[in-house]
Amino acid sequence: MIRSHLFFYCIFLSISLLNGCSSTSNRMSSSNPSNIHDLVLLREVDPAIAFDVRYATTNNFTGRVLYDCGEVYLSRRAAERLKRVSERLRPLGLRLKVYDGYRPLSVQKKLWAIVPDENYVANPAKGSRHNRGCSVDLTLIDERGEELEMPTPYDDFSERAHIDSLDVSREAMANHFILMKAMTAEGYIPLRTEWWHFDAPGWEQHPILDVDPCELSGVE
Ligand SMILES: [Zn+2]
Repeated sequence: MIRSHLFFYCIFLSISLLNGCSSTSNRMSSSNPSNIHDLVLLREVDPAIAFDVRYATTNNFTGRVLYDCGEVYLSRRAAERLKRVSERLRPLGLRLKVYDGYRPLSVQKKLWAIVPDENYVANPAKGSRHNRGCSVDLTLIDERGEELEMPTPYDDFSERAHIDSLDVSREAMANHFILMKAMTAEGYIPLRTEWWHFDAPGWEQHPILDVDPCELSGVE
Protein backbone atom coordinates (compact mmCIF):
# COMPACT_ATOMS: atom_id res chain seq x y z
CA MET A 1 0.00 0.00 0.00
CA ILE A 2 2.74 2.41 1.03
CA ARG A 3 4.80 1.31 -1.94
CA SER A 4 1.98 2.07 -4.39
CA HIS A 5 1.42 5.48 -2.72
CA LEU A 6 5.09 6.29 -3.24
CA PHE A 7 4.94 5.08 -6.81
CA PHE A 8 2.10 7.46 -7.71
CA TYR A 9 3.82 10.30 -5.83
CA CYS A 10 6.96 9.82 -7.95
CA ILE A 11 4.92 9.66 -11.16
CA PHE A 12 3.17 12.92 -10.17
CA LEU A 13 6.51 14.65 -9.55
CA SER A 14 7.82 13.54 -12.94
CA ILE A 15 4.70 14.78 -14.74
CA SER A 16 4.76 18.08 -12.82
CA LEU A 17 8.32 18.79 -13.90
CA LEU A 18 7.51 18.03 -17.53
CA ASN A 19 4.34 20.15 -17.44
CA GLY A 20 6.20 23.03 -15.86
CA CYS A 21 8.73 23.12 -18.67
CA SER A 22 6.11 22.89 -21.42
CA SER A 23 4.12 25.71 -19.77
CA THR A 24 7.24 27.85 -19.98
CA SER A 25 7.66 27.39 -23.71
CA ASN A 26 3.95 27.85 -24.39
CA ARG A 27 3.64 31.08 -22.49
CA MET A 28 6.97 32.72 -23.23
CA SER A 29 5.75 33.86 -26.62
CA SER A 30 2.89 35.81 -25.04
CA SER A 31 5.17 37.75 -22.64
CA ASN A 32 5.00 41.50 -23.01
CA PRO A 33 8.60 42.81 -22.97
CA SER A 34 7.42 46.29 -21.91
CA ASN A 35 6.02 44.84 -18.67
CA ILE A 36 9.03 42.85 -17.47
CA HIS A 37 10.16 45.33 -14.74
CA ASP A 38 6.71 45.41 -13.23
CA LEU A 39 7.25 44.39 -9.59
CA VAL A 40 4.16 44.43 -7.38
CA LEU A 41 3.70 44.20 -3.61
CA LEU A 42 2.43 40.66 -3.01
CA ARG A 43 0.32 41.44 0.09
CA GLU A 44 -1.62 44.01 -1.97
CA VAL A 45 -2.27 41.49 -4.75
CA ASP A 46 -3.44 38.82 -2.28
CA PRO A 47 -4.13 39.81 1.36
CA ALA A 48 -4.79 36.11 2.19
CA ILE A 49 -1.10 35.24 1.88
CA ALA A 50 0.94 35.14 5.12
CA PHE A 51 4.62 36.08 5.35
CA ASP A 52 7.69 35.07 7.29
CA VAL A 53 10.52 36.87 5.52
CA ARG A 54 13.47 35.17 7.16
CA TYR A 55 16.11 37.26 5.39
CA ALA A 56 14.70 40.41 7.05
CA THR A 57 15.57 38.77 10.41
CA THR A 58 18.48 36.84 11.87
CA ASN A 59 16.36 33.65 11.67
CA ASN A 60 17.93 32.37 8.45
CA PHE A 61 20.82 30.09 7.57
CA THR A 62 23.32 32.99 7.49
CA GLY A 63 22.26 34.27 10.94
CA ARG A 64 22.37 37.83 9.55
CA VAL A 65 19.76 40.42 8.57
CA LEU A 66 19.98 40.77 4.78
CA TYR A 67 16.83 42.80 3.96
CA ASP A 68 16.15 46.25 5.41
CA CYS A 69 12.40 45.68 5.21
CA GLY A 70 10.23 42.57 5.08
CA GLU A 71 8.07 43.41 2.07
CA VAL A 72 7.80 40.76 -0.67
CA TYR A 73 7.58 41.81 -4.30
CA LEU A 74 7.09 39.63 -7.38
CA SER A 75 6.65 40.34 -11.06
CA ARG A 76 2.98 41.13 -11.69
CA ARG A 77 2.30 37.91 -13.60
CA ALA A 78 4.01 35.74 -10.99
CA ALA A 79 1.99 37.47 -8.24
CA GLU A 80 -1.28 36.99 -10.10
CA ARG A 81 -0.47 33.30 -10.58
CA LEU A 82 0.17 33.00 -6.85
CA LYS A 83 -3.17 34.60 -6.07
CA ARG A 84 -4.81 31.88 -8.17
CA VAL A 85 -2.88 29.21 -6.24
CA SER A 86 -4.17 30.79 -3.05
CA GLU A 87 -7.75 30.57 -4.34
CA ARG A 88 -7.27 26.88 -5.19
CA LEU A 89 -6.20 26.18 -1.59
CA ARG A 90 -9.00 28.11 0.12
CA PRO A 91 -11.63 25.30 -0.10
CA LEU A 92 -9.12 23.02 1.63
CA GLY A 93 -8.82 25.45 4.57
CA LEU A 94 -5.19 26.14 3.64
CA ARG A 95 -3.22 29.31 2.91
CA LEU A 96 0.23 30.11 1.54
CA LYS A 97 3.02 31.44 3.74
CA VAL A 98 5.82 33.12 1.78
CA TYR A 99 9.43 33.15 2.94
CA ASP A 100 10.97 35.04 0.00
CA GLY A 101 10.19 36.47 -3.42
CA TYR A 102 12.04 39.13 -5.42
CA ARG A 103 15.60 39.57 -4.14
CA PRO A 104 17.83 42.47 -5.32
CA LEU A 105 21.15 41.51 -6.91
CA SER A 106 22.98 43.46 -4.17
CA VAL A 107 21.49 41.05 -1.56
CA GLN A 108 22.53 38.10 -3.71
CA LYS A 109 26.10 39.46 -3.54
CA LYS A 110 25.84 39.67 0.26
CA LEU A 111 24.64 36.05 0.42
CA TRP A 112 27.48 34.97 -1.86
CA ALA A 113 30.03 36.79 0.29
CA ILE A 114 28.82 34.81 3.32
CA VAL A 115 28.35 31.44 1.54
CA PRO A 116 30.34 31.30 -1.73
CA ASP A 117 29.11 27.81 -2.59
CA GLU A 118 26.84 27.17 -5.58
CA ASN A 119 25.39 24.14 -3.82
CA TYR A 120 23.63 26.55 -1.46
CA VAL A 121 23.57 30.05 -3.02
CA ALA A 122 23.29 31.20 -6.65
CA ASN A 123 26.43 32.92 -7.91
CA PRO A 124 25.61 36.64 -8.42
CA ALA A 125 27.77 36.60 -11.57
CA LYS A 126 24.97 34.51 -13.11
CA GLY A 127 22.17 35.90 -10.95
CA SER A 128 19.50 34.02 -9.00
CA ARG A 129 16.00 33.45 -10.37
CA HIS A 130 14.85 35.37 -7.30
CA ASN A 131 16.70 38.42 -8.74
CA ARG A 132 14.24 38.36 -11.65
CA GLY A 133 11.11 38.63 -9.46
CA CYS A 134 9.81 35.31 -10.77
CA SER A 135 10.66 32.90 -7.95
CA VAL A 136 8.98 32.33 -4.64
CA ASP A 137 9.85 30.30 -1.52
CA LEU A 138 6.79 29.23 0.43
CA THR A 139 4.91 26.65 2.47
CA LEU A 140 1.34 25.89 3.58
CA ILE A 141 -0.44 26.99 6.78
CA ASP A 142 -3.76 25.88 8.24
CA GLU A 143 -6.66 28.08 9.39
CA ARG A 144 -4.92 28.74 12.74
CA GLY A 145 -1.81 29.94 10.90
CA GLU A 146 0.20 26.83 11.86
CA GLU A 147 2.69 25.55 9.30
CA LEU A 148 1.88 22.12 7.89
CA GLU A 149 4.55 19.45 8.26
CA MET A 150 6.81 19.46 5.21
CA PRO A 151 9.81 17.29 4.22
CA THR A 152 12.29 19.62 6.02
CA PRO A 153 12.43 23.12 7.53
CA TYR A 154 13.00 26.04 5.09
CA ASP A 155 16.58 26.38 3.78
CA ASP A 156 17.53 22.89 4.90
CA PHE A 157 20.06 21.96 2.24
CA SER A 158 20.07 18.22 2.86
CA GLU A 159 18.91 15.65 0.31
CA ARG A 160 15.68 15.27 2.30
CA ALA A 161 14.64 18.67 0.87
CA HIS A 162 14.79 17.25 -2.67
CA ILE A 163 11.30 16.94 -4.14
CA ASP A 164 11.85 13.30 -5.01
CA SER A 165 13.16 12.34 -1.57
CA LEU A 166 11.34 9.37 -0.05
CA ASP A 167 13.08 9.84 3.30
CA VAL A 168 10.16 11.85 4.70
CA SER A 169 7.08 11.09 6.76
CA ARG A 170 3.82 10.13 5.09
CA GLU A 171 2.18 13.34 6.38
CA ALA A 172 4.99 15.56 5.03
CA MET A 173 4.75 13.77 1.70
CA ALA A 174 0.98 14.32 1.52
CA ASN A 175 1.30 18.03 2.44
CA HIS A 176 4.07 18.54 -0.09
CA PHE A 177 1.87 16.84 -2.69
CA ILE A 178 -0.92 19.39 -2.03
CA LEU A 179 1.52 22.32 -2.39
CA MET A 180 3.05 20.88 -5.58
CA LYS A 181 -0.34 20.15 -7.12
CA ALA A 182 -1.70 23.66 -6.46
CA MET A 183 1.48 25.43 -7.65
CA THR A 184 1.98 23.37 -10.82
CA ALA A 185 -1.73 23.71 -11.70
CA GLU A 186 -1.03 27.45 -12.12
CA GLY A 187 2.13 26.87 -14.16
CA TYR A 188 4.74 27.22 -11.41
CA ILE A 189 7.83 25.07 -11.96
CA PRO A 190 9.32 23.22 -8.95
CA LEU A 191 13.05 23.12 -8.23
CA ARG A 192 14.30 19.56 -7.75
CA THR A 193 16.59 20.32 -4.79
CA GLU A 194 14.29 22.62 -2.72
CA TRP A 195 10.66 21.65 -1.99
CA TRP A 196 9.84 25.29 -1.00
CA HIS A 197 11.11 26.95 -4.24
CA PHE A 198 9.04 27.51 -7.40
CA ASP A 199 9.71 29.53 -10.59
CA ALA A 200 7.03 31.23 -12.65
CA PRO A 201 7.11 30.16 -16.32
CA GLY A 202 9.05 32.50 -18.58
CA TRP A 203 11.40 33.54 -15.70
CA GLU A 204 14.41 33.50 -18.04
CA GLN A 205 12.92 36.36 -20.07
CA HIS A 206 12.89 38.68 -17.07
CA PRO A 207 15.98 40.80 -16.39
CA ILE A 208 18.10 40.56 -13.25
CA LEU A 209 17.11 43.59 -11.14
CA ASP A 210 18.72 45.53 -8.32
CA VAL A 211 15.79 47.64 -7.14
CA ASP A 212 15.60 48.08 -3.36
CA PRO A 213 12.17 46.80 -2.10
CA CYS A 214 12.28 49.39 0.72
CA GLU A 215 12.45 52.19 -1.85
CA LEU A 216 9.51 50.65 -3.73
CA SER A 217 7.57 50.60 -0.44
CA GLY A 218 8.59 54.14 0.50
CA VAL A 219 10.34 52.84 3.67
CA GLU A 220 13.08 55.24 4.83
ZN1 LIG B 1 14.13 30.11 -3.60
